[in-house]
Parts: sequence; C-alpha cells; structure tokens
Amino acid sequence: MDLFDVAVVGGGITGASSANHLVAAGYSVVLLEQGDFASGTTGRTSRLQYSGLSYLGALQPLSQIARHPFNAVEAVGLARRSMRDRSAFIRSVPERVRPVPFFLPIYRDGPVSLRSMMLGFRLMERLDPDGVPLSVEVIEPSKARRDPRLQWLRDPDRLTGVVQCIEHQFDWPERICVDAVFNAAENGATVENHSPVQALARQKDGTWLTTVWDKRQNAARHYRSRAVLNAAGAWVDKIAASSELGIPKVNQGEKGSNVVVRLPPEFEGIGFESLTRGGAPFYVIPWGKLHYFGPANRPSEPDNAGYTVSEDEILFLLEEFNFLFPSLDLQRSDVRYSWAGVRPRTARRGFASGGSAVRLHDFGRDGAANYFAYTGGLLMTHRSAGREVVAGIGRKLPPSGSSRPFLGSARLPPTQADSTTLRASDGDVAAKGLVYACQHEKVRDLADLMRRRVSIGWGEHLGCDVAHQVASTVRDAMGWSAGEAAAEANRYIETTQQQFGLCEAV
Ligand SMILES: Cc1cc2nc3c(=O)[nH]c(=O)nc-3n(C[C@H](O)[C@H](O)[C@H](O)COP(=O)(O)OP(=O)(O)OC[C@H]3O[C@@H](n4cnc5c(N)ncnc54)[C@H](O)[C@@H]3O)c2cc1C
Repeated sequence: MDLFDVAVVGGGITGASSANHLVAAGYSVVLLEQGDFASGTTGRTSRLQYSGLSYLGALQPLSQIARHPFNAVEAVGLARRSMRDRSAFIRSVPERVRPVPFFLPIYRDGPVSLRSMMLGFRLMERLDPDGVPLSVEVIEPSKARRDPRLQWLRDPDRLTGVVQCIEHQFDWPERICVDAVFNAAENGATVENHSPVQALARQKDGTWLTTVWDKRQNAARHYRSRAVLNAAGAWVDKIAASSELGIPKVNQGEKGSNVVVRLPPEFEGIGFESLTRGGAPFYVIPWGKLHYFGPANRPSEPDNAGYTVSEDEILFLLEEFNFLFPSLDLQRSDVRYSWAGVRPRTARRGFASGGSAVRLHDFGRDGAANYFAYTGGLLMTHRSAGREVVAGIGRKLPPSGSSRPFLGSARLPPTQADSTTLRASDGDVAAKGLVYACQHEKVRDLADLMRRRVSIGWGEHLGCDVAHQVASTVRDAMGWSAGEAAAEANRYIETTQQQFGLCEAV
C-alpha cells in the first residue's frame, strides 16, 4: 500500500484548496470525498466573494468591544482576511468572478447610521489599501427617490442615504472547487469522489489508515498516510469520532437557506444588502434573470437539516424581503426554488451557532499526532486556508517531495469551435464540453455534470428542461444505454424537484 504524506477528507472548497496547496508544496496527497466534489455546503452558498463588511457588525454598538473583546479582534481579523483574499482571487482568476453593484439602504430609525456605515467602509479599505476597490458612493435621499432601481425600497422619506458599492459574485463556486481538485491532480494528487470515509485509525507505527467505501466498486479501500487533514465541513466531528481517539468536538453546524424569485426588470444585475429585523445580514443577489435572497440561519447538524429549505424558512425570508420592498408583496407562489446548506462553524462555548473563527486545529496535544481539522472554512478565504494548512502541517511534517508551481487558474474545456450546441433556457452549451467533462473529470451522474462541471444545472429551470438532451449527448461517454440515459435524466429531474423545491412541471 502506498504511503501518502497527507490524506485529505472532504472535497469541498476547503479540502480541495488544501490538497492543491499541499501538493504544490511537495506533499504527496490523496483527497477523498463521499459524494461529488463540491456537492456539500460549497454547492449551497450565497456565492459571494464578499468584502466581509458584515463582520464589523461585531463592533456595533461600540460597547460590544468591551463586552466581547475577543470577538471584536476576530471580526476585524476576518474582515481583513476577506478583503485581501477577495483582491487576490479577483486578480488571479477573473474568469470565475463578476462585479455586482450592491445597494445598502440606510434609514433614520435603522440600526446602523450612515456615518457608521461609511466608517466601516473606510476601515475595510484601509485593511486592504492596494486591493480591488469597493467603489463606495453615497446616493443622497433626494436622488435615491428618483432612481428607478431604488423605487421599491420601503419608506423612501426615512432614508438618510443609500450606499452603493461593488461586491463580487463567484460564477460559480462548485467549478472553483472542481478547478482546485483537478489542478491538484495535475500536480500529482490522487483525487477520489463518491468514496465516503468510514473510519480513521492510528497505526502502531504512527501512520494513519483511512478506510473508504468505494461506491463504484462496492468495496472497501484503505489509504495509509503520515498525516490526516479532516476538511469534512459540517461533518468534521463525525469523521473524528470514527477514530475512537476521543478527539474533541470542534464544529457547530449552522443551516443557511436562500430562495429564488423573479423580480421586476429594474432589479436586473443589481444586489441589495441589509439587515433582517433580528439584525442578521440579508442579501438580495442577482442570478441571470432571477434573484435569490437570504440567508435564513439556524443552528443545525448537517444530517438532520438535510439540504432542503423548510416552509418556515421560506415564509421568514419572504417576510424579510417584503419588509424591505413592501410594494412588491411577494407571495409563497412567487418562490421558484430554494436551497440550503450547513455551514461548518467553529464551535464556541455559549454561542449556539458557534463563532466566526476560520482555523486549522492541530490535535497533537490530544493524543492524535499529525491529525488536523479545519473549521469555519469559507469560499472567500479558501486560498489563505490552503496556505494556512501547508504552514500548519509543515510545522510537524516536512514534505516528502519537492515543491512545484502552484496551479491556480480556471480550467477551461478545450475550444469547441466545431461542437454542436444544446439550447438551454440560459444560453447554449457546447456538446463537446459536456463529453469532455465526462471523460476527464470523474463524472458519475447528471448532477455531477450539470451542476459542478458545467453550470447548465443552475439555469432558470435548474437544468430540468435539458436533462434528457444532456443525458443523450453524453450517453456514449458515460457508457449508458438509451434506457439508462432516460432513467438518469428522470432521476435528475426528480431529485432536483425534491431538493430544491422546484414547483414547475417539466
Ligand atoms: C446559505 C449559505 C450561504 C453562504 N454564502 C457564502 C458566501 O456567499 N461566501 C462564502 O465565502 N461562504 C459562504 N457560505 C459558507 C461556505 O459555503 C462554507 O463555509 C464552505 O463552503 C465550507 O466549505 P467546506 O469545504 O469546509 O465544507 P463542504 O463544502 O461541506 O465540504 C465538506 C465535504 O466533506 C464531505 N464529507 C463529509 N463526510 C465525509 C466522509 N465521511 N467521507 C468523505 N467526505 C465526506 C462532504 O460531502 C463535503 O463535500 C455560505 C454557506 C451557506 C450555508
């Protein structure tokens, strides 16, 4: 059996980025994912390469700093990290992000004054002085009242101003994760999806044995490694428990939900950022011709919460939306679909949803030498997480090989000038691109292909309108008979309707 330097458990953005950075630093790596890469929380986010402004909420009111000084320091640290990671990612992979104008309405009787908001933005800019500008502007109330994009906001007479800035949106997170996985593979990592880790065990010689169930072969497989990085997101403690080493709990799951609607044309391409009446961040974000808004958050473990949004959560989000834009008066029947994910938050005593720390844990002192876990990992800080993992593991274990150039670019399919195209509701898709992904990117089913290798599964109808066409296009590449391709398309449609609460008939 091969001996790897590091077995990485979990192929979400944290595991993928860690594997990619580790292999570039000279470590031999195996990456193991129970489902498809990016099929966990990484595939259920709000897709923001966010500035991190809302972290400064921990400083509001100022008395909070005295009451929870540690939270305040952590919040500023995270805001700084978000700003810097944002600039670095936008500059290095511009193909995978897009700028979105965001509006932040400020009310006379609201929880944040215009002055505090502008102070917050100035601080953010100082945290990353040479970074990608946030392009902050204040729209005066009289001008805001005449701006058609802002006409739906509540109480225009009570506005003290609307702050406009540029945030960035990932287009789309799953592909960024898949890029990192296959960049790692190109640099020599072994990457396996549909391979759930069932147990971790420490061997007498100090190495680790990871047991995996191979869903393709229906058989157990074992991987030996000198170190383990548990990057299983909200499932991190479940994996740790399988080692029976009494490793302490480090994660607190927090379910977050978004709903999708079609808004009037004035909303096209723009977003809004506000607070719920309970004081939590609330975003309205464009996605093609649609918008999603949320999140509704509540503490939860991943297996209990599932990945579907409850009726309560949908109604809560509609109420918050209608509070902000009362004249639109959205109804339950306006919701086209919804999604939920469970954030892997760092457990913190006394905080039901954990803390916002983004960090690597080294369990050497808990009797588990060379066992590490990551909690609080975010999309927007995934590159610095990868570097942090290399530094943390590097303090305990040198790499067995020499370093290689880090591969961080977007992996685009070869040019397909002569390819036939499939007509989807959100644009055309090259048939050859689909076949290429099936042949080269470990696709097992249509969800892997349509949501995580190409983005056709995130179109207006979540790909249900083209599932049969896609299945028959990739039939040969996947080794499916005509009947199997049709059954796979039907399965895709059925699970999409169920997971995303997609109401429309196909
Ligand atoms: C509603 C919502 C909105 C969000 N919006 C944003 C945002 O706008 N910007 C941002 O930066 N962040 C956002 N986040 C946070 C972000 O999505 C997550 O923190 C991040 O995706 C976590 O990545 P991860 O790799 O740590 O976890 P995951 O993506 O969950 O990856 C962990 C992986 O481990 C796998 N795994 C579990 N058990 C096993 C096992 N036994 N064997 C093998 N593999 C296993 C899982 O299948 C999963 O793929 C949002 C989260 C939510 C819920």
